[in-house]
Amino acid sequence: MSKIQIMDEVLANKIAAGEVVEKCMNVVKELVENAIDAQSTEIKIDLQDSGVKEIKVTDNGIGMDQEDAVLAFSRHATSKLTKEKDLFHIHSLGFRGEALPSIASVSNVTLKTSNGETGTEVEIHGGTLISVNPSDLTQGTTITVKNLFYNTPVRLKYLKNLYTELSYITDYVNKMALSYPNIRFQLTNNDKVLLKTDGSNRLLKVINDIYGLSVTKKMIEIHGENEDYKIEGYISYPELQKSNKNAITLLVNGRVIRNLDIIRYITDSYHTYIPQDKYPIVVLKIEVDPILVDVNVHPTKMDIKFSKMDTLKDLITKVITEKLESLTLIPDAALETIVDENKTRISTVYTPNKFEEFNESKKEEEFQEFEKTTLNFDVQEKEVPYQKEASSTSIMETTDSPKERIKKMYPVGLVHATYIVAENEDGMYLIDQHAANERINYEYYLKEMSNPKPEIIDLLVPITLEFPSNEYLILKENLNLLDQLGIVYEEFGFQTLLIRSIPVWLTKSNTEQALRQIIDIIVSKEDFQLERFLDHIAATVACKASIKANDHIMQEDMEVLLERLRSCENPFTCPHGRPTIITYSKYDLEKLFKRAMS
Ligand code: ZN
Ligand code: ZN
Repeated sequence: MSKIQIMDEVLANKIAAGEVVEKCMNVVKELVENAIDAQSTEIKIDLQDSGVKEIKVTDNGIGMDQEDAVLAFSRHATSKLTKEKDLFHIHSLGFRGEALPSIASVSNVTLKTSNGETGTEVEIHGGTLISVNPSDLTQGTTITVKNLFYNTPVRLKYLKNLYTELSYITDYVNKMALSYPNIRFQLTNNDKVLLKTDGSNRLLKVINDIYGLSVTKKMIEIHGENEDYKIEGYISYPELQKSNKNAITLLVNGRVIRNLDIIRYITDSYHTYIPQDKYPIVVLKIEVDPILVDVNVHPTKMDIKFSKMDTLKDLITKVITEKLESLTLIPDAALETIVDENKTRISTVYTPNKFEEFNESKKEEEFQEFEKTTLNFDVQEKEVPYQKEASSTSIMETTDSPKERIKKMYPVGLVHATYIVAENEDGMYLIDQHAANERINYEYYLKEMSNPKPEIIDLLVPITLEFPSNEYLILKENLNLLDQLGIVYEEFGFQTLLIRSIPVWLTKSNTEQALRQIIDIIVSKEDFQLERFLDHIAATVACKASIKANDHIMQEDMEVLLERLRSCENPFTCPHGRPTIITYSKYDLEKLFKRAMS
């Protein structure tokens, strides 16, 4: 090759590097994916200064002979190195074979590799081959990338601060560890171990290594399949909440993907179990015939489309909803409750300043202990709905009686005129009277609203509602929504509605206020969906119609409230996703008062 051609190639690589490499994470990703393709069972990622100074990836894979080791850095000779194994082989985003030369063009790279027969060490500085030497026969490949962008200062400036770069990398390595629980991963930064997995092919163990035991204890296994898809994985108890989507990991045929639709199906399945701006922790593995998948090749992310999205949506929704409906979801107040990100191990791998050292032996010990206790006595998954004891099955309870996801509770008093204290043989309960009442009303309104022929009642005195003209114009276009709700009205001059009749459910609260709220929702609606509209109205009206905090309710009211809560579809959270009830189990109480040894 002439000198000019070589210069052209170096330049082309540098240009390509600008597209492929934006973050240190992109380098780590390329090297780790190469290691996986080389059938490694152990991959070590060692960073200095979040990878800005040095990224070293060591694997025990098949290695390369000398010829391939040199060719790996050549842009045009790469086809020899790539094999199309399956559709997902383009997880390397079409840049497979180009990424390595690109990385080498903007850094100092050392490649040490052995296939067991020959050992080779190649050194490249800024894309220029410096040396090729024989090396030892340690099976596998080690690639060291130093001083990224040292020769392109403009790009160097684009790197974010060290914490941000590190958080991208930990996020990526976490997700790879979750997709390959059979590979041992180790990630260090400045010699501090951040993650270490054992390659024992136990997904829950990897979850434990990443998120810690308090999270692991609150993960629930799920699985299901239909004609087109098979899904399995873990979802978190609703009480475990994160304020971003980072902890939702989606794997399709073993590859980490991004797909906002699937994330929405998951969060929609948690509707009213968690607040709207919160997200569960989820690892969802989807198996599908690659024919149904369309991969959108993009240099920095893996986006994917499914041709049968509807059946996937149905499957995910059904599996998660049914799982949540099968569980008793009363948070145990005596256990470590995880509501705030900053207080928990969940965030330690994500949050700046908190890259905690990984304690392998402690993790292993804890996890073994956890596995033992869950095998012997399944405290976490009370999957079988509460079985009524023979003696307590009273005549009142028929077979199609409410779900009763909570055992009968007996109120003993009221604290701060807000929290009902109740008990049964299992323990003590605290119930937020407003949240509980809100849940009861919400389910009632939802049911009434979905009634196609709602019972309507004429108002003795019609209610007059007047609107500013801009609102009235929007309202006029959407009067059919009022018809649908069973609200009978008359247009009265300009900007005024005369409400003559209303559905019975609307009489349960301050009618005029509720009407105004409904119309507010209609007027402010964007991206209208009837189901959401009704849900929003039900939640809003339910809140207004419910007992407030600081209302001194009587013993009989408490009894009625608890019974009605018990018959709710989801008695555990209010429509806004806040808890209605928490518990101290009998055992917790004995432990707290040192009556029980543990
Ligand atoms: Zn409320
Ligand atoms: Zn609420």
